[in-house]
Amino acid sequence: MKVLVVTGGVISGLGKGITTSSLGRLLKARGIAVTILKIDPYLNVDAGTMNPYQHGEVFVLDDGTEADLDLGNYERFLNQSLSGIHNLTTGKIYRSVIEKERRGDYLGNTVQIIPHVTGEIKRTIREVAETAGAEVILVEVGGTVGDIESMPFLEALRELSYELGEGNMGFVHTTLVPVVGPVGEAKTKPTQHSVRELRAIGIRPNLIVARGPAPLTADIKTKISLFCDVPPEAVISVPDQSLIYEVPLVLEAQGVGPLLARVLRLTERPPDYTAWKELLATHRSARRPVEVAIVGKYTELRDAYLSHSEAFHHVQGHLGVEVRLQWYDSEDIPKSPALLARLGGSDAILVPGGFGARGVEGKVRAIETARTKGIPFLGVCYGFQMAAIEFARHELGLASATTSEIEPTAAEPVVCLLEGQRTVADLGGTMRLGAQRVVLTKGSKVAEVYQKTEIWERHRHRYEINPNYLDRFAARGLAATGTAVDGRVEVLEVRDHPFFVGVQYHPEFLSRPEAPHPLYLALVRAAVARKEVASPVAAAPALA
Ligand code: GLN
Repeated sequence: MKVLVVTGGVISGLGKGITTSSLGRLLKARGIAVTILKIDPYLNVDAGTMNPYQHGEVFVLDDGTEADLDLGNYERFLNQSLSGIHNLTTGKIYRSVIEKERRGDYLGNTVQIIPHVTGEIKRTIREVAETAGAEVILVEVGGTVGDIESMPFLEALRELSYELGEGNMGFVHTTLVPVVGPVGEAKTKPTQHSVRELRAIGIRPNLIVARGPAPLTADIKTKISLFCDVPPEAVISVPDQSLIYEVPLVLEAQGVGPLLARVLRLTERPPDYTAWKELLATHRSARRPVEVAIVGKYTELRDAYLSHSEAFHHVQGHLGVEVRLQWYDSEDIPKSPALLARLGGSDAILVPGGFGARGVEGKVRAIETARTKGIPFLGVCYGFQMAAIEFARHELGLASATTSEIEPTAAEPVVCLLEGQRTVADLGGTMRLGAQRVVLTKGSKVAEVYQKTEIWERHRHRYEINPNYLDRFAARGLAATGTAVDGRVEVLEVRDHPFFVGVQYHPEFLSRPEAPHPLYLALVRAAVARKEVASPVAAAPALA
């Protein structure tokens, strides 16, 4: 087992997740079997109970784990699906240690952070590597070196490095090199301090990845090398990129491949980036811009909708159509007719998932605009449920149509609590979660989009479309064209519309750079088609 640890210093939000994902890609490009484990040092058992404003979107895995958004980055960069054991939290570790203690597994012993908690951490890392059958396991430690929360994890990793011995474990430390002052001077002091902190714990980094607005000059690299005790060629500069998928190549260009081979004693092989470079080139040279509106309530924090933005990048890298995302705060829409009018000028509208009453009316207005103006529309989860509510209100004349999530005793509960949720008391990990089979109606729009009638998609919801309204929906042109094995509604589409599809599941979680999601491709294709009918571009080449 070879382990590559990625830690972070100075501040959080440095792009440690992207660095880790890119290092994984770099190894994978050499045909090395890799996997990634994320450590989140918070006490929550999983990310499911956290507001997206805390750590960004909650990413859902096939097995239903509600994970940190970095798991999404790993899956996208590696083009590999991961499971719940790949996201370790203090909550999970403590829970399992305490369960073992109650069972009597440690009988006679005082249960302590060292060796019991650290032992549990090491056991999990080994288990993940073994289960995944990986040659190299990357371990990203969330938070910043020096945080009290991450201490047991760093201690466990230090112990593991001793146990595994020379050449089997490497440490990559990601830091910030800020550029300050009137002359724009790059400052290395924060990096020096954070490396000192790491070394005090007993960890000596093999590589330093310096993040910042600009590339590091040679003398700054030398300075970091001198103060931090790493060779100058192991100081890697990763300035901000306009597209995160460039990062593996930025690392590659500075010789990180051979460096890792040396640190981990791997045979250095030439990497293959053929497909990766192709999609980067297509993304870079994209033309024919389309404006896609995303109408949500967490729009101030883009990370809250990360998988959606990434899905559109994948489409751009595939179709060569420039996707310009426009963010609309759904709370502002009912207050501003001008905003609604601007939204009406979009080439496509996406309403993502969400919870609770805030911002709901704006989403309904946005959906009405898409439906009545023939603007291509994709509704995801709450956005799908809102599409049913909008239709009931404006096509079935049920003005009070709503979801029982907002009004538990609603007169017209078009969206109601899932069977089996009524008795649920705990909120953590109890929604309908993870990959579920969906059967699509032959001849429907979605079946055409997917080119098949059976799909697996990831879910995260507690409410569903009330089947009592389906006949009335169908009579007015809103068809249920996807159902779960138990008959629950998974897809609704408006027949008489260029593209109006709502899905109960989360397609954004399955989109990958190398395999863009069919629904996002279809949405953007519909936007392009509509735009070109309105203003045809002379001899526009056909879409890929
Ligand atoms: N709040 C809705 C539900 O629980 C939708 C959830 C979501 O959008 N992820 O069913």
